[in-house]
Amino acid sequence: MEFLITGARVLDASTQEARPEPTNILIRDGVIAAVGADVVPDEVERFDARGHLAIPGFVNAHYHSHDVLLRGRYEQLPLEAWMIWTNPGVYPRRPDDEVRLRTMLGASEALRTGITTVQDMVSIIGQERAHVDALFSAYEQIGIRAVVGMQIGDLGMADTLPWGHEASAGARALMSKAGDPAPMIAFAEALLDSGPELLTWAAAPMGPQRVSDVILGWAGRVSAERGLPVFTHTYETRTQAVVARLNFPQDNGSLIRRLERHALLTPRLTLAHGVWIDADEIIQLGAAGANVATNAMSNLKLLNGVAPLRAYARAGVNLAIGCDGCSCSDVQNMFQGMKAFAQFWALQGDAGETGAARAALSAATLGGARAVGLEGKVGLLKPGYRADLSLIDLSDPSWRPFNNALLQLVYSEAGRAVRHVFVNGQMVVRDQVLQTADEALLTAQAEAARAALAPQIEALAATNATLTPALMEIFRRAEGYPLPFDRMRLR
Ligand SMILES: [Zn+2]
Repeated sequence: MEFLITGARVLDASTQEARPEPTNILIRDGVIAAVGADVVPDEVERFDARGHLAIPGFVNAHYHSHDVLLRGRYEQLPLEAWMIWTNPGVYPRRPDDEVRLRTMLGASEALRTGITTVQDMVSIIGQERAHVDALFSAYEQIGIRAVVGMQIGDLGMADTLPWGHEASAGARALMSKAGDPAPMIAFAEALLDSGPELLTWAAAPMGPQRVSDVILGWAGRVSAERGLPVFTHTYETRTQAVVARLNFPQDNGSLIRRLERHALLTPRLTLAHGVWIDADEIIQLGAAGANVATNAMSNLKLLNGVAPLRAYARAGVNLAIGCDGCSCSDVQNMFQGMKAFAQFWALQGDAGETGAARAALSAATLGGARAVGLEGKVGLLKPGYRADLSLIDLSDPSWRPFNNALLQLVYSEAGRAVRHVFVNGQMVVRDQVLQTADEALLTAQAEAARAALAPQIEALAATNATLTPALMEIFRRAEGYPLPFDRMRLR
């Protein structure tokens, strides 16, 4: 299986030319075999890509397939008050078809915007094997590369919040209760050798503030034994920085110390968010060679502030970009993520510097690849890398005129010109049409699923009317708790 993409200009994070010259890309058995204008084998199938920019497929390093159906429903809620609408655990058992559909919908949007790898930190409630099979079936059909982490958490809600036990009795009665970690761990571990060809695994303790020592201990062990990446929500909110200080004295009030105690501070670790982290903890992460998947879109929507991107980079922390779940970012689009990254990067630096766009593209490709355990396999358009790439149509208005491939990719392109997408050498999007699923059918199924889900969302209103004031009170109280740093400002 061999074909030649001809006449594309090639841009990856290593490209120095503003307007790279057209060249050819030879793909053999799903791998980039050669790149160059003089690569012109006889007797090979050709794909004419003149007038296009070839870029590596993006790695969306933080995402949840479980809340895709909730896009466009919420705004201006802090995380704690948002979760009681969006955490899968608050809903009745989902139909198997819905699990398959939501996975397809999220992946289809991702592919259409040039995301070829997703890190899916998915909550499967009740250890339902049928739901895992639905997820596998969706990923296998749609043909995206997926790094799946079965998200598990066992602490009760009151224990994950500062002053959680001071809430009213009525509110406390409605808070989720602690669960038994043993079946969660057994379920997650048993899955690690299963799944379709393009699916690999990660461990996904929900967050060091939301899981017991038992789950963190397991994650540290299984990661070391199997070389598994680990993804965990850490310091997403100011409230989490407060809960670290108040609820985890055994870890000196530090979630990073908590991860370290369980042998999790390694290059395989990725913190999702990492906004409310202090300067010493950043140094610790950098010394460990760990990663942070920053999610500017959801960090802003959930009123969390801005991750200290420059401080991470200075400390040697590898940065990746995530789009997070559709209930808090509403979109799977790395162009939005890259642009926000570049702009915050610039604001945290000095006037007159350059390099923000390159830092953003690097995080969206190479940084993500490293975070998800695919370093050296995806993220560059070089021989030996998997053929995961997009062809961007340079006749789109965003590219008129074509001045600078890197800067226009990050600042001008919004996803509209993503015309063809390949994963592992397979063309999964052609002329902006998904090749692996019927999009009209997906649209109809999404509407049907929305109609079925809507009354169940409504049914949460009574419970949430009692819980919301208690959670907002905790949020406000945490806002007033003194911390020696601030992430609502830009430096
Ligand atoms: Zn998340």
